[in-house]
Amino acid sequence: MRPFIRTIETLELDGGTLCLNFVNTVRNRFESPLYEFIVTPGDWLLWSHRTQICDASTEQQLSKYISENHDKTIRELKRIIRVRELLYRIFRNIVQKEPPLIEDIRFFNNELSFSFRFLNIEINEKLETSSTWNYKENDLLYTLLPIMKSAYELLTYGLKDHIKECSNCGWLYLDKSKSNSRVWCNMKTCGNTMKIKKYYEKNKILVKKDKTLP
Ligand SMILES: [Zn+2]
Repeated sequence: MRPFIRTIETLELDGGTLCLNFVNTVRNRFESPLYEFIVTPGDWLLWSHRTQICDASTEQQLSKYISENHDKTIRELKRIIRVRELLYRIFRNIVQKEPPLIEDIRFFNNELSFSFRFLNIEINEKLETSSTWNYKENDLLYTLLPIMKSAYELLTYGLKDHIKECSNCGWLYLDKSKSNSRVWCNMKTCGNTMKIKKYYEKNKILVKKDKTLP
């Protein structure tokens, strides 16, 4: 079996929630240095498209904005990546049952205030509620707003015990299984990789044992 290869086009969206999919936009959290999937504003737009953060018309506007505002979009992307790493630190602390750093919570609250300033709800005649964003700027930060909402919901909806870390790649995911027993970010990728690793390790041990026989 060939090892799986993650790319921006193919990386799995298995985090179970938008903010964890966002955190999982590096190849492997245990690699140093990290292999980054979101290198250019164009990469970010592609990922935003894959996760349906923005609709087709917003995507078109952002694409035009990126082509006309190189330096500004690079700065916005840097902020987006800083927020991603902030969310990673906070959720990883939670996985490890440790409180996040005070400065990280402060940073989180600043970003939350920024995002929620633009949040509106609408209620239709069937009493169905939907969230909309009253964000007038036509820039990349628009895509951060639903991510911060998702992070807020994950922190406040009593789901903390269901946030897990894949032991093969370090991706974080929300375990939605009834038994709360999901072990990998993805069974087909990391699950199989770990099974193969274990198989070879076991056989190596058997071979070593054979060699020690008289
Ligand atoms: Zn994994």
